[in-house]
Amino acid sequence: MEDAAPLLDAEAVADLVLLDPLTEESLLQTLQERFRRRDIYTYIGNVVISVNPYQSLPIYTPEKVQEYHECNFFAVKPHIYAIADDAYRSLRDRDRDQCILITGESGAGKTEASKLVMSYVAAVSSKGEEVNKVKEQLLQSNPVLEAFGNAKTARNDNSSRFGKYMDVEFDFKGEPLGGVISNYLLEKSRIVRHVRGERNFHIFYQLLAGGSAQLLQQLKLRQDCGHYGYLNQGTSSLPGMDDAANFCAMQDAMKVIGFSAAEVTALLEVTAVVLKLGNVQLSSSFQASGMEACSIAEPRELQEICELIGLDPGTLEQALCSRTVKARNETVLTTLTVPQGYYGRDALAKNIYSRLFDWLVNRINTSIQVKSGEQRKVMGVLDIYGFEIFQDNGFEQFIINYCNEKLQQIFILMTLKEEQEEYVREGIQWTPVEFFDNSIICNLIENSTSGILAMLDEECLRPGMVNEDTFLTKLNQLFATHKHYESKETQNARRVMDTSLPARCFRIHHYAGKVTYNVTGFIEKNNDLLFRDLSQAMWAARHALLRSLFPEGDPQKVSLKLPPTAGFQFKSSVAMLMKNLYSKNPNYIRCIKPNDTKSAMVFTPELVRAQVRYLGLLENVRVRRAGYAFRQLYGPFLQRYKMLSPRTWPRWAGSDREGAEVLLADLAYPKEELAFGHTKVFIRSPRTLFDLERRRQE
Ligand code: ATP
Ligand code: MG
Repeated sequence: MEDAAPLLDAEAVADLVLLDPLTEESLLQTLQERFRRRDIYTYIGNVVISVNPYQSLPIYTPEKVQEYHECNFFAVKPHIYAIADDAYRSLRDRDRDQCILITGESGAGKTEASKLVMSYVAAVSSKGEEVNKVKEQLLQSNPVLEAFGNAKTARNDNSSRFGKYMDVEFDFKGEPLGGVISNYLLEKSRIVRHVRGERNFHIFYQLLAGGSAQLLQQLKLRQDCGHYGYLNQGTSSLPGMDDAANFCAMQDAMKVIGFSAAEVTALLEVTAVVLKLGNVQLSSSFQASGMEACSIAEPRELQEICELIGLDPGTLEQALCSRTVKARNETVLTTLTVPQGYYGRDALAKNIYSRLFDWLVNRINTSIQVKSGEQRKVMGVLDIYGFEIFQDNGFEQFIINYCNEKLQQIFILMTLKEEQEEYVREGIQWTPVEFFDNSIICNLIENSTSGILAMLDEECLRPGMVNEDTFLTKLNQLFATHKHYESKETQNARRVMDTSLPARCFRIHHYAGKVTYNVTGFIEKNNDLLFRDLSQAMWAARHALLRSLFPEGDPQKVSLKLPPTAGFQFKSSVAMLMKNLYSKNPNYIRCIKPNDTKSAMVFTPELVRAQVRYLGLLENVRVRRAGYAFRQLYGPFLQRYKMLSPRTWPRWAGSDREGAEVLLADLAYPKEELAFGHTKVFIRSPRTLFDLERRRQE
């Protein structure tokens, strides 16, 4: 086992901290060579990089689980199981709460990685009947959330369209007790629109393909996807995905979690309502006054919706086609134009669905939450969208990239903190490391008085003619000299010649690269308004679940306060998430997508290079080895290298530490290369370590 030393293969080091020389090129080559050997995992210290193999590899068997459970971290090949095992042990034996942060771009393998972590922990923790039930519930939350929150996109057939954080809670023996799930920013625009080659959320296709004739009849649905306006914009069936079978699996999962039959029915009824709303057609008509108005073109769909939710069709029709406006103590009913009517209809569908998704997460939490008050240990798993740079970047990319900026910030803070703590623990002199501090960018976005999000909120609140141009003008004034902000105007003022930055755009220099955001849609998406008439109509329905989703529709509780904006809500939930993560010991899984065609064994260097940059891997290695690249406990170190000195070979009678000191003194390395802590020896550069290895081989 000792001789295997999988970390020290100089051709393709298993730990990039040992890379010599360290360049983007050498890093890429190493990943590529390892990928070629089907070693998809590589470390940077205790960070694991995972390159999506797009094929099933025989490395997740129960035997593998056993192997990683029994072996020392450094004696086996890098694996996600090794990280999971390390985190689990440290939680159980050293009482340290853990978090596992999984990042990477769409299709890189985050969700698969999170499932591997969960199933590993489930496999190695104990197996009592009660514990097994808890584990099953935790694992079965996946098919349910994936049905409602995942969709086929151009990048990934099973793309998570929401961010997810799950705290798994354990008792003092390390047995899982339950958990709590938080979700972030569901991509609700997908409900009403998706591009060719993509699909809406899986659940709709699952329901139509897998629901029995009786169920579909009860929900007043037709089996044919093509019939539905929200489903017939792209692809409907998907090779390799059995929607009907997944529907069964999803229903079974709901049973395991503890949904009652009535709850499942209510959930599917609301889902059907969303689908049917997309088929409510409006047409234009003219009022006696000559004003254009909109009306329901064909009453059948609307009637069926109303039957499903127990609502008077007239109420819904009025809410869809007109709007109550309050002006000077007077309420006036104004008619909507057809485009306004469709806008309201789509806003309603999106709101129902995203609120239903929140309800679903809460409902799962009710089942899996820990009831007892005993002391718990926690392992959090974060599966969240990675940095996005598209051709066109809008509000969503802005929010997602802000989140990644925050994750990078705590990554650096936590890594440095951890390094520092280890040096203090070991009694070694600590010299602060220079690193790029991205708080300046975080601040640019989130500062509560003058950040971009605050400015956006201010624009959204301003009465009268608001539009994105005034928002952009304001940013340009505020950040005229900001190093990480650019727009056409600031470029002109700074006399920068650059034709790549269009009007109505601003560009942020993120830690991972420059991204140009188009402000079109920022205000509308941030406001995320639903006409009050529509929420009141929903609240009036005799459908308990639907009604509970629209508490603001209660006319008794009409509030003049605007609901918090999307940006504000996201910022608050990110702040909470960061606080939560910061209190835990971090473990990182950074996922990489090797090609754009979902092919096995294809590694496209240029694609990977971009991700290596977005993930900040070079910086990651630099920070990790800012002090000493390698460290090991004196015992195993002496054991491995004692043959290199006649004074320690074949036996050393003194302490391990003295042995290591004598041995290294005999090899005459420069003094600054080494440090001797209380329990570990530290080696500054990989070169020295490889030299030790080379001598050992000789
Ligand atoms: P998104 O951000 O779109 O949700 P993701 O990072 O969560 O993407 P996954 O859904 O986890 O990506 O992975 C995409 C696909 O890649 C999987 O459906 C699977 O086919 C394949 N894949 C990912 N990881 C592995 C793995 N370890 N072994 C084999 N195949 C994998
Ligand atoms: Mg995913």
